[in-house]
Amino acid sequence: MAQAKSKTVYFCSNCGYESAKWMGRCPSCGEWNTFVEERVSTSKSRGSSSRRGLVKSARPQRLSEIEISGEQRIPMPSSELNRVLGGGLVAGSLTLVGGEPGIGKSTLLLQNIVSIRGRKI
Ligand SMILES: [Zn+2]
Repeated sequence: MAQAKSKTVYFCSNCGYESAKWMGRCPSCGEWNTFVEERVSTSKSRGSSSRRGLVKSARPQRLSEIEISGEQRIPMPSSELNRVLGGGLVAGSLTLVGGEPGIGKSTLLLQNIVSIRGRKI
């Protein structure tokens, strides 16, 4: 049986850079005094993410349970696309659309992007 272990790691609160020891200056973003200490469990499966153990209570949610307030949304012309996006694209975010070959990903996205082209966002 795997023994539950935890170790201390340090994260830059500015850019998320991870280090085994505290540093005054982040080598990634160059900010000073941004490192914070975190205890990370190492008992779970190895190699997935260097930040395993930090996500405390991730669970699936129904679309109707997801709060969509807070972010600025860019509404898409397709109401169905808006529904799965939670009201539209989040400004400054990245959205990954996946699916079988030929299912219409490119068509759907091109139709929507063309119709919002030139709109002030
Ligand atoms: Zn940093």
